[in-house]
Amino acid sequence: MIIRMKKNASEADIATVEKRIVQAGLKASISRGESLVIIGVIGDITRLERDVIAEISGVEEITRVSRPYKLVSREFNPTDKQIKIRNVIVGKGNFTFIAGPCAVESRDQMLATARIVKKAQCQLLRGGAYKPRTNPYSFQGLGEEGLQYLKEASVETGLPIVTEVTGADKIEPVMKYADVIQIGTRNMRSYDLLQQIGEHTSETQMPVLLKRGDNATIEEFLSAAEYIAKAGNENIILCLRGIRTFESGSFIRNTADIGIIPVLKKETGLPVIFDPSHAAGKRDIIPSYSLAAVAAGADGLIIETHYSPQTARCDGEQSLSENELNETVSSCRHMLKFLRQS
Ligand code: PEP
Ligand code: MN
Repeated sequence: MIIRMKKNASEADIATVEKRIVQAGLKASISRGESLVIIGVIGDITRLERDVIAEISGVEEITRVSRPYKLVSREFNPTDKQIKIRNVIVGKGNFTFIAGPCAVESRDQMLATARIVKKAQCQLLRGGAYKPRTNPYSFQGLGEEGLQYLKEASVETGLPIVTEVTGADKIEPVMKYADVIQIGTRNMRSYDLLQQIGEHTSETQMPVLLKRGDNATIEEFLSAAEYIAKAGNENIILCLRGIRTFESGSFIRNTADIGIIPVLKKETGLPVIFDPSHAAGKRDIIPSYSLAAVAAGADGLIIETHYSPQTARCDGEQSLSENELNETVSSCRHMLKFLRQS
């Protein structure tokens, strides 16, 4: 249920509505726009008498939320969400570049790559210490040792860390080192894990970067975000990374779902970023996908980068070199400047 307050509603009116909601054993989520206050009711709304709320002065309209992903819907939170990661602000008009290797392979590799990411003026550093691999015999990441190298790279460069949690037992170690928890494509449907991550981060509100499952519908993707929000953390960054279609994989790894960016932006106020690396799977296509995502209204990009892509242990063919990263970031910045002026 959503309660829209009149433009001239007083703080006392808002407080009265909130009090009634809490008295009914429900939770109120107050969203303040420039001239609009919307109060969302969380919980079993059958416990709340509609007429009692309607009679409170300052109440303009009461409606039911039509979306199954209520907490993350724009209906419920009309304003864009801004997510603070140390000194970096993601969303609400800010564009964020995230870059780094697919996997943390060694201390030297991580430090060398982090320096490239810093020099390219990206704002966040990515790298997987725990790697979900299609083939179980492939390199699975360095685990906690990898997290330590990531931390060292973060301390040296000042860049906050984005790294993936692949299972419930990895939540605590990742939370010790990371600034943003990544949930990968393969785990978008692990509802128990989503809930556990939401609960574990409900106190710290550590941001969560949620990737779209490679065969998930828009509604399923947003409902996965809802699981995290419902468990207590609404600091969610949505990430598109290409989906599976009838393409065989010989030319591109996945099919870029760039067309979904404006849809997500309409449906939710959460920041939406794009991963051109896992969409393309091939280095030479990544600059075009990056530009297309910027043009479609993305709030950021997450790009795989390696100081030596040819020797990378994981996803080298889709990792940009230093020069390629510089060029991609620079052309995206030009595009952003153009879009903001036009
Ligand atoms: C990754 O970001 O390295 C990764 C494994 O991505 P995805 O979950 O999108 O496959
Ligand atoms: Mn990868």
